Amino acid sequence: MRWSNYLLSTLREAPGDAEVVSHKLLARAGMLMKVAAGIYSFTPMGFRSLKKMIEIVREEMDRTGALEVDLPIAQPKELWVESGRWDRYMNDGILFHLEDRKATEFALAPTAEEAVTDMVRRSVTSWRQLPFNLYQIRTKFRDEIRPRFGLLRGREFLMKDAYSFDVDQKGLDAHYVKMEKAYRAIFERCGLEYALVQADSGAIGGSASEEFMVVADTGEDALVFSEDGQYGANVEKAITAPLPEPWAGEEEKPFGRADSPTPGIVSTEGQARHLGTTEDRITNTMLYEAIRSDETSFVCAIVIRGDLTINEVKLPKALGVAHVRLVPEERLPEISGCKPGFIGPIGLMAPKGQDEVPVYVDRTMENARNVFCGANEDGTHHSNLSVKRDLKVAGVLEVATARDGDPSPTGTGVLRIKRGIEVGHIFKLGTKYSEAMKCEVADPQQKMIPLTMGCYGLGIGRTVAAAVEQNHDDDGIIWPVPLAPYTVALLSLQRDKEVLEAAEKLYTDLKAAGVEVFWDDRDERPGVKFKDADLIGFPVRVVIGGKALAKGVGEVSTRREKKAEGIAPEKVVEVVKATLAGGARALAV
Ligand code: ATP
Ligand code: MG
Repeated sequence: MRWSNYLLSTLREAPGDAEVVSHKLLARAGMLMKVAAGIYSFTPMGFRSLKKMIEIVREEMDRTGALEVDLPIAQPKELWVESGRWDRYMNDGILFHLEDRKATEFALAPTAEEAVTDMVRRSVTSWRQLPFNLYQIRTKFRDEIRPRFGLLRGREFLMKDAYSFDVDQKGLDAHYVKMEKAYRAIFERCGLEYALVQADSGAIGGSASEEFMVVADTGEDALVFSEDGQYGANVEKAITAPLPEPWAGEEEKPFGRADSPTPGIVSTEGQARHLGTTEDRITNTMLYEAIRSDETSFVCAIVIRGDLTINEVKLPKALGVAHVRLVPEERLPEISGCKPGFIGPIGLMAPKGQDEVPVYVDRTMENARNVFCGANEDGTHHSNLSVKRDLKVAGVLEVATARDGDPSPTGTGVLRIKRGIEVGHIFKLGTKYSEAMKCEVADPQQKMIPLTMGCYGLGIGRTVAAAVEQNHDDDGIIWPVPLAPYTVALLSLQRDKEVLEAAEKLYTDLKAAGVEVFWDDRDERPGVKFKDADLIGFPVRVVIGGKALAKGVGEVSTRREKKAEGIAPEKVVEVVKATLAGGARALAV
């Protein structure tokens, strides 16, 4: 392709609202244009990289034997009510929805479990028709709260979503392993450094769930890794080995009822300082409303060490409820009689409809002795609380958020926290949707059984953006060869006959050799052409300029190393091909 026939304009400055490198560079390279918050157009150049990603994903999915389908984006509300997701997604505000002229409501698909389950239940009756894995590569809509990171968090974005159907867990396990392998192949082909981490699988249903993460400082997810590399998890899910107990080996001291004034001091740090102790000896009591899947709820207290925080993703699971929310501040006086900061586990008043407020303690508090806790009276703490002696404990939960430096659950070393971008998610769903939507088949004994499902998501645009996050320098993008819009930039530096003729010949030869070449044939200064080629990030650059040509050479360089070599024009195609085959990490001369 020749630039003179192309629609492409690069920008000197990144758009003012671009916060992350991938958004800045893709916009400056003229590949991506914002149309509205979280909604983008791909220009011809940008769409080529996106298509490369699509093709890699399609090839690897097809290789596993998965079958491509095309499910609607506009999905009737009925299906979403049937699965039980309509209300929850509407409440979360994530669902784009619309009405047709007859006031029939639709969701714009954020994922497609309902649509695919509907397709399958209408197609199968017997276990003999299983197993299979259905996938599509289609636009998804999510009304994200903060659509601010370019392609990393769009509101309209391209996702590959796959759904496996089996008659039993064993089948699902096999599909899951296959998908994990396919994802590895995909991310490896894209030249991405990634990590597989354990993930939370949501409050309802589902056993195993893992995320493919690209480690990058701009990532929105916090990831926890053990130093020995044996453990990796999303912080939403991460556990630690038991923490050392500050009270280990101490005698229990007599309980000090409301004997420790903390006037007007609400922070744990301030209270510890005022009481002459450390934060791990102050306990925090948090009041939560725990909401079951049938929408009934109860209030409970969670007691945790002052130096730790409660993980609100782990909490609902530990309590066995659908979700949790903090009791709003205006309701606190009715339950605890005091303001936040002074709430404690002793003497809480049950709200209407509840006999008592159950008190749960985090695992780190199970044996706590001689610690302070709020006295449910403003500005007052109890001292020398001993959990086993003084509290009626409804349960011990593992709900603390893992911290950098906490002991690793693998038993050696400590945990380190890094930032990451979730590019893929594989998930053993189980029978959540097949039960709700009656997607059943007759088993060999003619008994009807719900199908066992897995779902496997992969962000197409997000992966392309993640590749840019990992592969760039001050001058622009450095595309991994498989995702490059064109693999070679051909720059003709002057417009005189010899140069143009030599460039034209090379252009034709490269194309004939199957190389994707983009010829900058504009009437522009060499400096402009060099800058643009670097910004767009073509892996290999071939330069034809008067001076070098007079010496019988063209210049070839890789975007990554930028070391130019003089190569005889008739050798250029060979060198370029060998360089690309080697990933364009160094020139193959
Ligand atoms: P996140 O936690 O980042 O919001 P998610 O867990 O909700 O993502 P999934 O439902 O697991 O996402 O979606 C599968 C894949 O789709 C993700 O792994 C990610 O690559 C991609 N994806 C999800 N949300 C977005 C988005 N808003 N923009 C671009 N890609 C997305
Ligand atoms: Mg996810």
